[in-house]
Amino acid sequence: MLNFRRGMWAAVAATMALAGWTSSAYADNGEAVKPVKPVKYVFLFIGDGMSIPQRMVTEQYQKVVNDKGLLINAFESQGVTTTYAANHFITDSAASGTAIACGSKTNFGYLGVDPAGKPLESVAELAHKNGRKVGIVTSVSLDHATPGAFYAHNASRGDYYNIAMDLINSGFDFFGGGGFLDENGKNTKEFHGNVFEVAEENGYHVIRDKAQLMTLNSKSAGPVLAVAPRLADSNALPYAIDTRPEDISLADFTRKAIDFLDNDNGFFLMVEGGKIDWVCHANDAAAVIHELCAFDDAVNEAYQFARQHPDDTLIVVTGDHETGGLALGFAGTAYSSYLERLQHQNISFIEFLNVFNAKKKEADFSFDKAKPLITEYFGLKFDGDEQDPMMVSAIEEQKMQAAFNRSMGDQSMPSGQDPHLLYGGYDPLTGSITHVLNNKAGVGWTSFDHTALPVATSAYGKNAESFSSMLDNTDIAKRLKPMVEKIN
Ligand SMILES: [Zn+2]
Repeated sequence: MLNFRRGMWAAVAATMALAGWTSSAYADNGEAVKPVKPVKYVFLFIGDGMSIPQRMVTEQYQKVVNDKGLLINAFESQGVTTTYAANHFITDSAASGTAIACGSKTNFGYLGVDPAGKPLESVAELAHKNGRKVGIVTSVSLDHATPGAFYAHNASRGDYYNIAMDLINSGFDFFGGGGFLDENGKNTKEFHGNVFEVAEENGYHVIRDKAQLMTLNSKSAGPVLAVAPRLADSNALPYAIDTRPEDISLADFTRKAIDFLDNDNGFFLMVEGGKIDWVCHANDAAAVIHELCAFDDAVNEAYQFARQHPDDTLIVVTGDHETGGLALGFAGTAYSSYLERLQHQNISFIEFLNVFNAKKKEADFSFDKAKPLITEYFGLKFDGDEQDPMMVSAIEEQKMQAAFNRSMGDQSMPSGQDPHLLYGGYDPLTGSITHVLNNKAGVGWTSFDHTALPVATSAYGKNAESFSSMLDNTDIAKRLKPMVEKIN
């Protein structure tokens, strides 16, 4: 399979070369890239599950609803990046994170090690070795695959406790985001103590308070381990669509990381928008748009810094893979798009599930009683003017009623219908509501998992042109590593 794929990519490269394209990814085929001078401030932003459809649905929604586009789509350098793993055409976040962080292909589920299990050096570790300050920020738990690829070395991305121990042992200067998934080592044979206690024993200042985080500056004592005060599903930050004023946003974490890391030897900062992937797995397009905007706001913090340090800053933005098979067209809406219809949704799939689960406990709860909730949170209407585009059709209502019955415990399905194809592993009613709303907006989904679609890589600032061609995800680390050498 792998040889076949290499052959296929070589053919693509040859075709592009004939067409006059620069095909550096396949021309250099893992060899050294053109030497470049180090850059003092290097940012790498990774949208988990963010490919071109996620960027374009948000861009178009923002243009229609808010009369503005995405900053990341306006960057001067734009390229396309392949994502496949060593042993899978469709990658996972561990293999793709390792490729982006370390510059080597590895197997599905492997983190910071090659297919033989040998540790790989990440661009963050190299920057740290070179005397730069290093920061890792994410909207999901800090032990998750994408952040982990920059500090951990483990053939199992699910070995959360030992991944957390690798985080502490990295000695990196700033960690900010969600919490940990195995804080007390319930799934490990070798227990060294509670993750936060071990971090403090190793000199980390643990911050769980917004006011305290906001006081950080370049003179603050470190290293810092900052965790959002309000955590949502899987110890991640709340979804952007559910954010409250007291929450710490991805942009807040990014801004404070910059303030804290700024120093004469330069820094490397990786920021992950981790929940883009999660809302794509759940096929929730409105939540995708909110996550993308929150991610773009975080990039804007780096961009504002770059404008003050134009000769010393590089910002690279990429995705690790596509999730959901998001399609910017739907058979039911033909050539028309109605993305503005997504603005009626004001809650994530997971928060709606919390509302729904509370209602389910009421004795005489029925689909008719669920309808006002669907209207309140998603704008879909069951009564009123037939011409109203938010009116649910008879067939759409049937789909939601069947999903409601299944959510309420009725496991029967019409013959030939596979519940996994309809709902994935998600709550049937919630999934059917977002499918109906998304289809009304002219958006479709083909999967509840990742797809092999290439992603877009964008860059701004010093050496941005290094990222403007068709690359492989391993090329990102190969290009970044010479840029995090010592400045002087
Ligand atoms: Zn991912």
